[in-house]
Amino acid sequence: MDNTVQNMYIGGRWHSAVSGKTRNIINPFNGKVLAEVAEGDREDAQIAILAARQAFDSKIWSDLPAVERGRLLYKLGDCIEAESEVLARLESLDTGKTMEESRWDMADIAGIFRYYAGLADKDGGEVINSPIPNSDSRVVREPVGVCGQISPWNYPLLQAAWKMAPALAAGCTVVMKPSEITPLTTLKIAELVAEMDFPAGVINIVLGPGASVGAELAENTMVDLISFTGGIETGKSIMRAASTNVKKIALELGGKNPNIIFADCDLDVALDRALDGVFFHAGQICSAGSRLMLEASIHDRFVEKLKSRMAKIRLGDGLADGTQMGPLISAEHLAKVENYMRVAEADGAHLELGGRRPEAADLQDGFFFLPTLFTGCHHEMRIVQEEVFGPVITVEKFTGEDEAVRLANGTIYGLAAGFWTSDPGRIQRVARQLQFGTVWINDFNVYFTQAPWGGCKQSGLGRELGRQGLEEYTEIKHIFQNHKPEPSGWFGL
Ligand code: NAD
Repeated sequence: MDNTVQNMYIGGRWHSAVSGKTRNIINPFNGKVLAEVAEGDREDAQIAILAARQAFDSKIWSDLPAVERGRLLYKLGDCIEAESEVLARLESLDTGKTMEESRWDMADIAGIFRYYAGLADKDGGEVINSPIPNSDSRVVREPVGVCGQISPWNYPLLQAAWKMAPALAAGCTVVMKPSEITPLTTLKIAELVAEMDFPAGVINIVLGPGASVGAELAENTMVDLISFTGGIETGKSIMRAASTNVKKIALELGGKNPNIIFADCDLDVALDRALDGVFFHAGQICSAGSRLMLEASIHDRFVEKLKSRMAKIRLGDGLADGTQMGPLISAEHLAKVENYMRVAEADGAHLELGGRRPEAADLQDGFFFLPTLFTGCHHEMRIVQEEVFGPVITVEKFTGEDEAVRLANGTIYGLAAGFWTSDPGRIQRVARQLQFGTVWINDFNVYFTQAPWGGCKQSGLGRELGRQGLEEYTEIKHIFQNHKPEPSGWFGL
């Protein structure tokens, strides 16, 4: 471990916590200290918010021609690509995920900055056909202002990029707070930004716990928009806090995502992709297809094959070649997943595989949990309804399309769902009936920068990525001009 404390980046300078406190960042593969970072508090968040407010109000960023903002964002994408191996390694050390997954993330992140760099100067507004004679009517988009942005630990830099790139392209200034347990790659981005020509105060990175630093971002009346990705309960508290000044809110919350397998699909492909749908990053993915729904006629043979593939998943160090699944993020999260095993068994789910920590000697220092399969599940069970966020699949059996749709929609979440079938009519019917922000047909867990991402129901508010992701960071203004003003003569004559 490098012994220097890594500091926050505020107003174009490196900033240690006002309290002087620091936090150790833990490698989930071996429980060892990986780095020491400043541990901010409300006061640090307030300093960062003020820096972002002053930068926004000075118009140094929003008045910069959009093409120039795009040029800087494009350059940041290039810098990320140049550093992608370093960043991927850091992300794997900090989260435990495999290098292969981290490399995909970094390629995406560079692409996200470039995508929004390209969009920055594309929206010239809209001319409206005004019904008033001798007038002009235009609709323009303007930056919302100061954006508080809070990211989770599962995709630390990817989630930060989903927020920072569109906000900056729109002309906003940002205060980004990464998860307190996985701040390292976001801090590395601050290093890249510090070397570039971004005006001071446009990009600020604060560190520290959600309950103080995150809450300050949500409550502070100098912040115009709060964008949050994380758990549903935190999302609700952010909504309440944001009411102080009726901030704009963007929420990407959890999911409990059904993966529905109809008997008429290509079962081998569906099985293979059902594994991909859950076990990347040890199931710690908001869109994990952890709720597997099998048509009754194929249930038994599908489960047998699934079990035998799951038993062969290779657990290990994310940095090592050949590792297919790393550890969970923390001892605390491991305890939460372990507790769900008791919940599932108490509800009557049948444990087919896993359900415990592995026994291998080289995995004892990390927060590992075995790939786990429950059958005999029904949709009222907590293990089916609640987000476990671990390498756990529950299997429900269904008969026919109507039951599949009814069960799949029977959740408070609405992030993503997938289904597998070769019936063209069913494809149309089921895709329209599923109440989820993303529906995959004959695939699972596909997302890309160009298409919007977000949830229905309690999975969130608003959308990230795509054009919609940029629009979240803009206010719509209608500008009306009368070219021939005349008195109306209505009052007091
Ligand atoms: P979390 O809610 O515990 O924390 C997320 C972030 O919020 C962290 O930075 C944390 O410090 C901060 N925070 C915590 N309490 C806060 C408060 N009171 N006020 C303001 N900020 C606060 O979530 P997590 O455990 O880091 O991440 C896992 C969750 O994120 C899962 O529920 C997952 O589904 C969700 N997630 C959703 C998406 C999506 O696109 N919908 C993507 C990734 C993760």
